[in-house]
Amino acid sequence: MDDLRYQVDLLTALNQKLQAEERMYRLFFDTSQRAFLYINYENGSARTLGSWNTFFDMTINEAARLPELEEYFSEESKENLRRLLFVEKEGKSRQALDCKLKDEKTWVCVDVSAFKNASGEVVEKIVAVSDVTRQKNHQEELSYMAYYDSTTGLYNRNYFITKLKDYVDKAKESNVVVSVMLIDIDDFHNISDVRGIVTGDEIIQNLGIYIRGLTEDNVIASRFDSDIFCIAIFDPCGHRSVDTIYRSIKEYLGKPMKLTDMTDASISVSVGVAEYPESSDDALSLINCAEIVMYKAKKQGKNTIKFFDTAILNNFLNEVNIENKLKEAVLSSSFYMNYQPQFYAGNKRLRGVEALIRWKDSDGNMISPSVFLPLAERNGTIIPIGDFVLNESIRQFMEWKKKFDLNIVLSINISSIQYTKPDFVPKIMAALNKYDMNPELLELEVTESVLIDDFKQITDKMLELRDYGIKVSLDDFGTGFSSLSYLRGLPISTLKIDKSFIDNVLKDDTSKIIIETVINMSKKLGFETVAEGVETKEQLEYFTENTSCDLIQGYYLGRPTDEKGIEELMLRII
Ligand code: C2E
Ligand code: CA
Ligand code: CA
Repeated sequence: MDDLRYQVDLLTALNQKLQAEERMYRLFFDTSQRAFLYINYENGSARTLGSWNTFFDMTINEAARLPELEEYFSEESKENLRRLLFVEKEGKSRQALDCKLKDEKTWVCVDVSAFKNASGEVVEKIVAVSDVTRQKNHQEELSYMAYYDSTTGLYNRNYFITKLKDYVDKAKESNVVVSVMLIDIDDFHNISDVRGIVTGDEIIQNLGIYIRGLTEDNVIASRFDSDIFCIAIFDPCGHRSVDTIYRSIKEYLGKPMKLTDMTDASISVSVGVAEYPESSDDALSLINCAEIVMYKAKKQGKNTIKFFDTAILNNFLNEVNIENKLKEAVLSSSFYMNYQPQFYAGNKRLRGVEALIRWKDSDGNMISPSVFLPLAERNGTIIPIGDFVLNESIRQFMEWKKKFDLNIVLSINISSIQYTKPDFVPKIMAALNKYDMNPELLELEVTESVLIDDFKQITDKMLELRDYGIKVSLDDFGTGFSSLSYLRGLPISTLKIDKSFIDNVLKDDTSKIIIETVINMSKKLGFETVAEGVETKEQLEYFTENTSCDLIQGYYLGRPTDEKGIEELMLRII
């Protein structure tokens, strides 16, 4: 009897312990954020635990009902769910699946642990389901940020390059063309300076969204940089050709863009195009080639499209080559000066000389200043070059002055970059001091382009130079904006009429009328006038006999020559 009681007590105690444990496990499950499903294949039972009811509004109590779970999952996820639940695989497997729970798209992570019996058959499974929507959204956002531009929804630069590389690889296999279009908004900096960054962004966004609408199979587009877009077309033909895409962008920009602040914006774009295989067989170089011609399009007046071709490539390589040589030349100072005489129109006496730089590169080729000076202005070498011109020509001029004691003027060309430097005037004064030259014998030639940058600052500098007695002449008059009215306020002493007018003066009456008006006006304003590029006897006669032009410069009376040539001329006239 005691024995029996003992066994009952023991069973009760055991039962209590089991109940306590069951309670503990239940608490574990119930307080967990996960839904659990236990499946026993041996007896066909199933049991749901934990937060099952917060996920699914059905319970499963037998293994046979497992397929009912599928209805919660998306079509793509169903297959993966089946694999997790029904494929007899030992151990753990895990997958994130999307499903619709309580009418909301939810991402769940499904963990499955399978257990085998002694004979190796899977007899039990635990399926744990957790909600990972937040993590998944965050991850999607991160990968979106990695691939897309958030303002326009277009690919970003990196992802675009990866895709373009795929296009080029594919094109190599299938022997087709890939076109790359680089599209840059004209004067965007002005637009965003004047109208603000927010409007600037809105313009970029509108154009970006329009460009996104042009993408399709085999056409991808990206926001490449702030206001630069890049489109790549695989196997361009028919409606997905460069021409069609360019035309639709032009058509879109042809109408004013309506902005949210109720104003309009009118913009244009410059487009550069390069194609595989003609321009390059490498994705990055294709973009570079497109960029080169895009800048060419900008230079040629914007709002246009340019295609890369071998002539442009050679020209570009040539420029790069010259640019490198130019840097070497500055270091090895392989420049020298020529001088071109200027004569009084009336008595043909020498008025002065214009200093003109010359450069023979390391291969012995003469490179024209019209070719290398724009490059020197771009890469900054114009400053040391300008210093050389200033010092060398003043030194030479003073040597002649001592030798021949002529009362003549030295004209030096000054680039607008030099003019804008704060030490520009002090540098001139230092060179004059160094060679003890009278400032009144120096004339600085500037083109109208210097005035465009900052009219007030430049004219202030001109006034300062004039106070020192230095003359300023306006070069190439007639090629810039050439308004006669702005000449009135300009502190210059000489006006040089551009050669292009002189070329035409005997050919058409309009040039004659213009030249005569300019010369008369110039006289009234108290300037001396120079006719530049006078090449023939007839031209010379026209100026001396029919106009009151003061000075003549040109091949007919004297070409630019080295110092020996000028010395011979001086010897003849003293
Ligand atoms: P520019 O100041 O208008 O100089 C006159 C140019 O016309 C010179 O060309 C000269 O050789 C050329 N020329 C003069 N008379 C005639 C003529 O009758 N017929 C023809 N066909 N040409 C004539 P160059 O020396 O090649 O200089 C070209 C330009 O380079 C100059 O135009 C000037 O803007 C710039 N330049 C030359 N030397 C310097 C310099 O030392 N410093 C700066 N900043 N610019 C310079
Ligand atoms: Ca000149
Ligand atoms: Ca000139």
